Amino acid sequence: MDFELEDLGLDPKVKKTLNHGGYAINLSWLECRTCHFLTRDPRRIGSTVPCGKCGDSAAARLYPSSEAIQLLTDVQHFYKSSFEALERERNILLAEVSAITGRRFNFKAVFESAEQTGNLYRDLGGARDSFDNAMLQIKESLGLGSVEASTQVFYAMFNHINEPRDDKAVLILSASLLELLSIDLIKRLYLKKGVPPDLSSQLVERIRTHAAITHEFKILAGRPLKEALIALGFPDFYDNWLSIKQSRDTFIHRGRLNQSTTVASDAFKLSNESFAVFASLVNTYAV
Ligand SMILES: [Zn+2]
Repeated sequence: MDFELEDLGLDPKVKKTLNHGGYAINLSWLECRTCHFLTRDPRRIGSTVPCGKCGDSAAARLYPSSEAIQLLTDVQHFYKSSFEALERERNILLAEVSAITGRRFNFKAVFESAEQTGNLYRDLGGARDSFDNAMLQIKESLGLGSVEASTQVFYAMFNHINEPRDDKAVLILSASLLELLSIDLIKRLYLKKGVPPDLSSQLVERIRTHAAITHEFKILAGRPLKEALIALGFPDFYDNWLSIKQSRDTFIHRGRLNQSTTVASDAFKLSNESFAVFASLVNTYAV
């Protein structure tokens, strides 16, 4: 039997952008070495144009740190490879299901059946009943005649439509990126309050949780973080960040992703937006 592999498609626009090298660094900002004001004006790389805030003409440096830019590069890498892996696995599954049953299937039917089966199996916690129900689900949705065929198809589905592994990397790295940027923000707020650099570094070392970050921000900036983000034109950022944080914690503690298909793309979007969001916070509250 020969199979034509289907291109199931990462959004072509996203694919094109991700294939374009240096994407993460294109989202970075430039920081004045004197007053720490952040700008997207590329002329600040050289010393031809002075800082719009303090007038200093020394060449600006990159914001955020190279670690943060590398994390965003990694998020983008794994997001792209997650789609590619999904495409590959789906095509293998289609080929295997056709080989088991001796029939050609419409791809959509197989994938929908696999998703339903996977959800059914996972929601019931992998209990004996859930296995039987999953068999029944496959048998009905694909119109299979025998239990043997259903069982083999179930194994193929389990092997090839598991939670995409790279989605987990996208989630973990995104949560790390946001943590890094927010701790950097808190440190800048300490410095602005006149706390010496060494002590500022020690103080942020103690910050370990999202709640602690929010708490410190409110004390130092005089305004709740969520409110500050809304006022800066990022109405959903706080809630989406919290939701990524919770998904990450659930994964760390229980080893599974909630609604894995949307978690990675939400985390990806949030990460791509994060440099601009934190730069706005820095300019408004820490310069
Ligand atoms: Zn300046």
